[in-house]
Amino acid sequence: MPSVRKTFDQSGFGGWPRRTIVAAMVALLLLSVEASHAGWLSDVFKGTSKQAKQSPSPKRTAVPKPAASSKPARVAKPAAAPNRRTAKAVAPRAAAKPSVSKTVATTCEPSKFRIVLDVGHTAQSEGAISARNVSEFVYNLRLTQRIEEKLKAEGFTETKLLLTEGKARASLVKRVAAANNLPANLFLSIHHDSVPKKFLEDWEFGGRKSRFSDRFSGYSVFVSSNNPEYKASLSIAELLAKEMKAQGLKYAEQYSQPIMGRYQHPLLNKETGVYSYDKLIVLKKTRMAAVLLEAGSIINRDEELQMDSAERRDIISSGVVAAIKEYCDRRWGILGPL
Ligand SMILES: [Zn+2]
Repeated sequence: MPSVRKTFDQSGFGGWPRRTIVAAMVALLLLSVEASHAGWLSDVFKGTSKQAKQSPSPKRTAVPKPAASSKPARVAKPAAAPNRRTAKAVAPRAAAKPSVSKTVATTCEPSKFRIVLDVGHTAQSEGAISARNVSEFVYNLRLTQRIEEKLKAEGFTETKLLLTEGKARASLVKRVAAANNLPANLFLSIHHDSVPKKFLEDWEFGGRKSRFSDRFSGYSVFVSSNNPEYKASLSIAELLAKEMKAQGLKYAEQYSQPIMGRYQHPLLNKETGVYSYDKLIVLKKTRMAAVLLEAGSIINRDEELQMDSAERRDIISSGVVAAIKEYCDRRWGILGPL
């Protein structure tokens, strides 16, 4: 919101002593950081004390630390949101050439683009169970961590991996609140797919009775037309699905078919696999562009093996990063800097 910044910059502060102004600004900054981050941090940096079980390759790298103990942790994450005004107010003059003040940047500045990467489900409510008895939460966490790494490496430093705890529904509300409080510019929820119960078949894996369905496979991308930023959501969804396809992946076509019963959804893009899923809480209650990616099926025995590989995680994260870069550039060109 450039207009907010402009107002703040031009307010002038009359004839106040300079030192008082600076002190007041610092105080304001500290206050706003405290106020706006309390909720965010408690939601985001809780981590999972009880990790989900049975990962086939349990690499638990860089799971955000529990927030319980640590105040200092929050300082390490100076969010762009509350700081923007202050940052601009503290150091505007050196660069301020009147002639360029109206120039609108047309390329994306990743460091100002705030992304929430939502890890689908929780350690307590793990989502689907794979053909080899691994919880969806484990898959979601590993893939989201890889996406986070790649985004940060590309300069999207304001990327937050969102881990929530507790039961399914309550966790959805927490996710939405975390994203809205930041506020994020983009909310991306990461999941892995399964099938309705009626499709499940029995087999044995690792000496245990297990269930699978090789009938369906593929990724899918969902948006909600109830999201207040629906156009933007659709735009990033289209880019994301296009990138998934460009990576050689195939989308899950079954969601458009009546055989899916209540899981049938309108297919918005036949080429790339964007679906409408209006009622999803995390997509409709978030107040920024919001998209949910089902990265692939873990109930399909072949596809589960692929989803378990670092190569597939790399392919998917590269697609996600490419889509976000493209989206960031596009919205920047239209709306100007954040
Ligand atoms: Zn899920």
